[in-house]
Amino acid sequence: MADCLFCRIVAGDIPATRVYEDDHLVAFKDINPQAPMHVLIIPRRHVATLNELASGDDALVGEMVRRAAAIAAENGYAQRGYRTVFNCNADAGQTVFHIHLHVLGGRLFTWPPG
Ligand code: 5GP
Ligand code: ZN
Repeated sequence: MADCLFCRIVAGDIPATRVYEDDHLVAFKDINPQAPMHVLIIPRRHVATLNELASGDDALVGEMVRRAAAIAAENGYAQRGYRTVFNCNADAGQTVFHIHLHVLGGRLFTWPPG
């Protein structure tokens, strides 16, 4: 998707500070971090929202979640704790319509979220 910001990051057309990549996923630092660690994990393939996921994507989503845990552990937050978030559509505040898993750590997160 030429007009998708995160597809352009996957393609390397827009720079990002990558912290992980493989055949299916790219992970990079959020440009406007909301915590000392704020990483976004995205699939290379364009999927606009969680609503577009199909059963065939179960392994992909599993890889995203397990990668979040690995990145949190690499940064020393496994035991202390961290927050993972998928925002979906307007009420949740999704602004980039290519699914992304936020991984945040390094501060105390409250519940319920804002
Ligand atoms: P959303 O609100 O859709 O769940 O999250 C989108 C996230 O993408 C935001 O946290 C925002 O700061 C981040 N973001 C938007 N544009 C860019 C960009 O060009 N580069 C990076 N690294 N992050 C971005
Ligand atoms: Zn995209």
